[in-house]
Amino acid sequence: STAIVWLRRDLRLADNPALDHACRAHQYVVVLYVLAEHEAAPWQAGAASRVWLHHSLRALAGALGERGGCLVLRRGDSLAVLQALVAETQAGAVYWNRGYEPALSARDADIKHALRAAGLEAHSFPASLLNEPWDVRTGNGDPYRVFTPYWKSVSRRPVAAPHPAPLTVLAPLRRPRSEALDDWPLLPCIPWAAGIEAAWNPGEAGARGRLLEFLDEGLFDYADARNLPAAPAVSRLSPHLHFGEISPRQVWWAVANRCGGQPLESRGGEAFLRELGWREFAAHVLWHHPDSPQRPLQARFDAYPWAEDYAPALAAWQQGRTGYPLVDAGMRELWTTGWMHNRVRMLCASFLVKNLRIPWQEGARWFWDTLVDADLASNTLGWQWTAGCGVDAAPYFRVFSPLRQGEQFDAGGDYVRRWLPELKAVPTKYIHAPWTLPAAETARCCFKPGAGYPLPIVDFASSRAQALAGFERIKGER
Ligand code: FAD
Repeated sequence: STAIVWLRRDLRLADNPALDHACRAHQYVVVLYVLAEHEAAPWQAGAASRVWLHHSLRALAGALGERGGCLVLRRGDSLAVLQALVAETQAGAVYWNRGYEPALSARDADIKHALRAAGLEAHSFPASLLNEPWDVRTGNGDPYRVFTPYWKSVSRRPVAAPHPAPLTVLAPLRRPRSEALDDWPLLPCIPWAAGIEAAWNPGEAGARGRLLEFLDEGLFDYADARNLPAAPAVSRLSPHLHFGEISPRQVWWAVANRCGGQPLESRGGEAFLRELGWREFAAHVLWHHPDSPQRPLQARFDAYPWAEDYAPALAAWQQGRTGYPLVDAGMRELWTTGWMHNRVRMLCASFLVKNLRIPWQEGARWFWDTLVDADLASNTLGWQWTAGCGVDAAPYFRVFSPLRQGEQFDAGGDYVRRWLPELKAVPTKYIHAPWTLPAAETARCCFKPGAGYPLPIVDFASSRAQALAGFERIKGER
């Protein structure tokens, strides 16, 4: 018999329950990827994610070929594509791993219903989270709104061991037609993605390599060094996890094995798994608040007095030209590589919302388009947290100071110099506030404030005061 495995954000062969079950129950397996961007509206993949997807699909097709399989690529409405492929291959069953984003999970429910109504088997599996979002509840049966008790309730739950990849994924003798990956409009026409391509190795093998590197070089110092953006201390697994090139179960077990089977008893292991816990919490919050990508979870923030005519300030922020080096370095890292360190994401987001008073949704949209790990749940949670309007959010009066963050987390200025070569010669003492460089030093440093690198586009203290005044105005609202 023949089955279709419909891959979506589970672009891997190992620990892939849908693929595993299909290979056990059927002689032939057709592995399908459907490009159906309209179905994710209004959150169709952004430009950087599309670049990643292209390379990840290429890697997946290669890995499947090595196991006797083939990857079928089609464009269109997912249901129509599935129905056509069922007719072509005489498949009796369709398997997939679940997605949890509002538009996609609603679509999947409709598709399951339609396939079953047509007499087909339709099976879906959990694969991208350690816990189903609806399976975690407070004592009162409500969803969690605060991370710490959420994590306390799930962190010691047993995690099932991951499955190895099937040895063979046998395609039917008459292989279904596939569209050519190069015909898909995923890569940009203007080749701006070279920095992304140089920085990453998309695909399952790349994900495994990244994990092993992190286990060898990052894990044991993770608790101490994870906030230093210049250090190679974090895993950079986020895009691999987003596209499902590696499962959280595989990551959990790899960390557990390195920590002698007791990951929560090791400082690095505990700190790292807690971050995976944030990923789970983000999915939990999105599941229970499906309109949170657009709307603040605390409704009074709808009435916040945002700045007027903010287009020039938004453009300066996007281009890394605010005059605050740590913010600009982060925005340029993002533009060049499609990724930004978490500490700097928090700072850049805080700066946009609180110093420029630009709605957090504008920032979330920019991140959505430029991040290779753009993820609806984590991006929404990150932005609402920083803006102070989410669940378990940073208090609104917490305004990250680019100077203080720089002195604390990039004390030697290495991160700033890496992304802002125009500041290379500025002495460390002034690196986070180059506009304070004394006139007597400018010749020696080949740097003159305001020439080649902008002066600050807002004054930190007065913009912070304005933001807080705005929050005072909405305090009484519900
Ligand atoms: P590590 O420190 O190595 O952590 C391991 C894994 O845990 C990550 O790969 C990620 O899957 C998860 N994780 C870590 N921190 C968080 C967090 N705060 N929230 C949720 N999951 C987390 N993460 C995304 O994956 N996609 C996004 O679109 C995204 N947008 C963000 C927007 C803002 C404004 C902020 C403040 C954070 C955002 N994050 C997002 C969370 C976090 O910044 C990234 O997950 C992290 O920087 C990825 O790097 P890493 O893989 O080296 O993380």
